[in-house]
Amino acid sequence: MAQRLIVIGGDAAGMSAASQARRRRGRDDLEIVVFERGHFTSYSACGIPYWISGLVPDPEALIARDPEVFRREHAMDVRMRHEVTTIDLERREVVAQNLEGGGEVRERFDDLMYATGAVPVKPPWAVTDAHGVFGMQTLDDGAALRDWLDADPQPRRAVVIGGGYIGVEMAEAMIQRGLSVTLVEAGEQPMSTVDSDMGELVADAMRGLGITIRGSLPVTGLEEHNGRVSAVVTEEGPIPADVVVLGLGVRPNTALAEAAGLPLGPTGAIRVDRRMRVPGLPGIWAAGDCVETLHRVSGLPVHVPLGTHANKQGRVAGINIGGGYATFTGVIGTAVTKVCDLEVGRTGLRERDAKAAGFEFVSVIAESTNRAGYYPGSRPMTVKLIAERPSGRLLGAQIVGWSEAAKRIDTLAVALWNGMTVDDMTQLDLGYAPPYAPVWDPVLIAARKAVDALAALDR
Ligand SMILES: Cc1cc2nc3c(=O)[nH]c(=O)nc-3n(C[C@H](O)[C@H](O)[C@H](O)COP(=O)(O)OP(=O)(O)OC[C@H]3O[C@@H](n4cnc5c(N)ncnc54)[C@H](O)[C@@H]3O)c2cc1C
Repeated sequence: MAQRLIVIGGDAAGMSAASQARRRRGRDDLEIVVFERGHFTSYSACGIPYWISGLVPDPEALIARDPEVFRREHAMDVRMRHEVTTIDLERREVVAQNLEGGGEVRERFDDLMYATGAVPVKPPWAVTDAHGVFGMQTLDDGAALRDWLDADPQPRRAVVIGGGYIGVEMAEAMIQRGLSVTLVEAGEQPMSTVDSDMGELVADAMRGLGITIRGSLPVTGLEEHNGRVSAVVTEEGPIPADVVVLGLGVRPNTALAEAAGLPLGPTGAIRVDRRMRVPGLPGIWAAGDCVETLHRVSGLPVHVPLGTHANKQGRVAGINIGGGYATFTGVIGTAVTKVCDLEVGRTGLRERDAKAAGFEFVSVIAESTNRAGYYPGSRPMTVKLIAERPSGRLLGAQIVGWSEAAKRIDTLAVALWNGMTVDDMTQLDLGYAPPYAPVWDPVLIAARKAVDALAALDR
């Protein structure tokens, strides 16, 4: 009899796992049943801001593979609009509600892939029946926001609460649609994924686009009028709003896992080993935004909900479910984003993370340009490096600048991943031609500056 894999969640982690398992085991050997409560499979949530802004006109473009492709070409039983409500580990069964047809189904499994993603953080004051308030995590969330923006009366005033990268990207999307946009942030400024000195550069660029930033301003409630959101209430009074986007971060979607007794780690996400197995529960796997992972620099468990990890972890789980051997060995916190033309990249630890992990370190900021100064399109680029003292090992890096800034972080990510010191980095053989870099690449300039800072401290 064929073994049975049940997958909960039909996006990055779940479908990567299912696809890899199928590659290794044919339909007679492994039956695959996928439950997805939404309307889409294998979609790019990362592309939502560009669909909202209108840059990507068609949501179909964000879907890598629809359910029919998985059914037809990969022999998977994909059940859309089915929400798994119970996992019974003893009987090795799941119970799922059919959200459209009604009724429930009970299905047995040999292997279970838990890939439910994350859910937007929603403090008690944000729980409301008023229309016009949106968390942003799935393509269904994006579709609901698009419908609201297109409906009559068309919203004119948007408030984004929270300035993480999703909040920043959504603020940009809505200003591009012609709304007036206010971003309210409890911290000093948006983009807390980088240190505040670098975040200030991002805040300046956002202001330049016409986005109003209200920093150090906790939100305390929402007001409504005739069932529609009408204002965001803050300690300094209400801010009128026709549409509110919650960008307060996400938390791992673990309710179902917790109820079933899957172990959670210190971050509140599901614990897994490097093969994406849930410890102590044979045949139970988890991956993506619902799990925690190892930070390779701090050595601490972290919850880093990014699509790049979800895809890799799902792949690893699927290879192992399929009988192969693969491991996911942790993250270093590399991420990139943009605000219109301004690009932001980060990897490794911020100053506050380095402190929390107990490192002694120096940090330096180097101002340079993306291209040779005389070459058309040359724009400023700011590189920040954090290096351990006295070893000089790179601990973290951040870049803010115009074209060619964000993906330069990959050079630094590779250096960090391989434990390079800033001294080693000054020798790196990086490409140079005037259209792409000054003769001393901004990364090399920053590395030299970090070497000097370390030497000055030890003199
Ligand atoms: C606006 C936005 C921009 C982003 N940009 C980037 C980016 O630029 N780079 C990057 O790396 N990452 C980005 N991300 C993050 C990335 O989208 C996620 O990390 C990735 O989608 C996580 O994949 P996942 O499979 O773990 O979870 P999800 O994609 O959240 O998928 C989980 C699925 O499980 C389903 N589900 C949940 N519970 C159940 C249940 N009980 N029964 C059935 N189905 C269930 C959900 O409907 C969902 O479809 C962005 C996210 C957003 C929202």
